[in-house]
Amino acid sequence: MKKNQRIIIVGGGLAGALQACLLGQAGFEVVVYERLADPRLTGALGGRSINLAISDRAIYGLKLAGLDQIVLNDAIAMRGRAIHSPTGQLSYQPYSKNPNDAINSVSRGGLNITMFDAADKLPNVTHHFDQRCVDVDLDKPAVKLLNTKTNEITWVEGDIVIGADGAYSAVRDNMRFVERFDYDQLYLAHGFKELCIPPTKAGEFAMEPNALHIWPRGGYMMIALPNKDRTFTCTLFWPFEGENSFETIKKEADIQPFFQEHFPDAAALMPTLVEDYQANPTSSLMTIRCGPWYYKSKVVLIGDSAHAIVPFYGQGINAGFEDCAALMECIKVHSGNWEQIFSSYYKRRKENADAIRDLALSNFMEMRDRAASPVFRMKKKGERILHKLFPQWYLPLYNMISFSRIPYAEAVKKAKAQDRVIILVALVVVIIFIVLLAIIWGLVK
Ligand SMILES: Cc1cc2nc3c(=O)[nH]c(=O)nc-3n(C[C@H](O)[C@H](O)[C@H](O)COP(=O)(O)OP(=O)(O)OC[C@H]3O[C@@H](n4cnc5c(N)ncnc54)[C@H](O)[C@@H]3O)c2cc1C
Repeated sequence: MKKNQRIIIVGGGLAGALQACLLGQAGFEVVVYERLADPRLTGALGGRSINLAISDRAIYGLKLAGLDQIVLNDAIAMRGRAIHSPTGQLSYQPYSKNPNDAINSVSRGGLNITMFDAADKLPNVTHHFDQRCVDVDLDKPAVKLLNTKTNEITWVEGDIVIGADGAYSAVRDNMRFVERFDYDQLYLAHGFKELCIPPTKAGEFAMEPNALHIWPRGGYMMIALPNKDRTFTCTLFWPFEGENSFETIKKEADIQPFFQEHFPDAAALMPTLVEDYQANPTSSLMTIRCGPWYYKSKVVLIGDSAHAIVPFYGQGINAGFEDCAALMECIKVHSGNWEQIFSSYYKRRKENADAIRDLALSNFMEMRDRAASPVFRMKKKGERILHKLFPQWYLPLYNMISFSRIPYAEAVKKAKAQDRVIILVALVVVIIFIVLLAIIWGLVK
């Protein structure tokens, strides 16, 4: 394979940064163009959630780049859900029967910087910041860049262009005009806003740090993930419109009473609630499904640009890093034949991206509507018991998604098959019970 080929990566977010490391380590010449400033000079990248949860799939991607331990050393393990009731009562649900199974809260900016630093050590990887891609010539391929500081426009040519520019991808926008390119975009009626729980006066975490905190309220919810500086980043998922919504709750006089009524224990820990609520942006949540994710042997999409999903399974970047790993494996297998590389990468990833998209959407309902119910808690307990009793046969869906690298689509199929067996066994047990009752009744008579 010709390694002197020039690979342009548009977008130096999480997926773009990992792909740059992996391609660079494999010896390719890689140039990354990122629209934002270098976060190492200006502070955190982006304005979205400042932390995020990574699990086995993302950790595997980082391991390929030799970065897993560096990232995990700075992570906070979350081993279960801490559910906050409307009256402030707490209940805890472990994620797994195995106490070592955990999702890991990491700093989004910190993770990005770790990957930039690793790639910068390679002589064949270059980062250019403040460069927004505004157009793509798919056939050359070449990207048109706007320097956001100087307003200078340049066209840059490469052998391959990788679109890693997120949910609002400019690269994908250009592919939308190619015949037979499918595209489907769905906005949720809910948006999100980030708030903060600071450390206590003694400088400690104000809540249990080794858990993901959820305030399920039916129709809406808030979650909180711990940060290394002993703060929690809270994310309020709320409808844009309606009675209790971002549209109606805006003024100081409404914010504090609303939180005191619905999130009383959290409100007590948020001294800057009103300021944060009014100052922080309200952002939307979107799902993108498109295909094919590549154009001939020239352009390919990875991460959110190919499959943005809602964040309710905490799998967005786990799936994105799986893309990076899959692309590297296809490069190895189909050495030098880029069209073949892209088409087998797409075949491998597409049904899995669709599967996690659907799971993420349905997990929103589970987290906000069902997480607090006794039936849900019993179901989760039942899953853990089955897993303990039949570890070879039964693996709860959440474990397959978060604590294994079983392809998403296969995990969904396996979970459905397990459910069918459980229903069948339950039916047989009920029938045996009824027959026994009938026999006993006959004997007694
Ligand atoms: C509230 C919230 C919470 C989340 N929590 C989790 C979680 O816990 N776990 C998880 O796995 N996932 C989570 N996700 C999803 C995760 O954030 C995304 O899947 C992930 O960031 C996607 O990475 P990416 O590199 O593909 O895209 P992005 O992170 O969006 O990066 C794209 C990059 O491209 C740059 N860019 C954009 N347009 C251009 C352009 N025209 N030219 C040049 N550069 C450009 C951007 O500045 C950015 O740096 C969450 C998402 C949200 C919204």
